[in-house]
Amino acid sequence: MLSQILLVIIIILALIGARSVYHWVLHKPRESPPPDPDSAEGLGRGYAEEMVPCAHCGLFLARSRALQRWKRYYCCHEHMQQGPRQ
Ligand SMILES: [Zn+2]
Repeated sequence: MLSQILLVIIIILALIGARSVYHWVLHKPRESPPPDPDSAEGLGRGYAEEMVPCAHCGLFLARSRALQRWKRYYCCHEHMQQGPRQ
């Protein structure tokens, strides 16, 4: 009888131990990668947005505000229609 009670107590303690190890594995601190500069999270943490030159006039502007065509960036529709300056 006493050995059965002891066995139950040991099993309960083992379950608690296993659970805390499982919890520790799930919540241990990890090295997180730096935020993507293009994401809103990256912008909110002081990351500068990438600047790209207009393929026609060379004006630098934020990539999110530039017009893109054939892997080139332009500052306005007029320059996009005129294409890259040779
Ligand atoms: Zn331009």
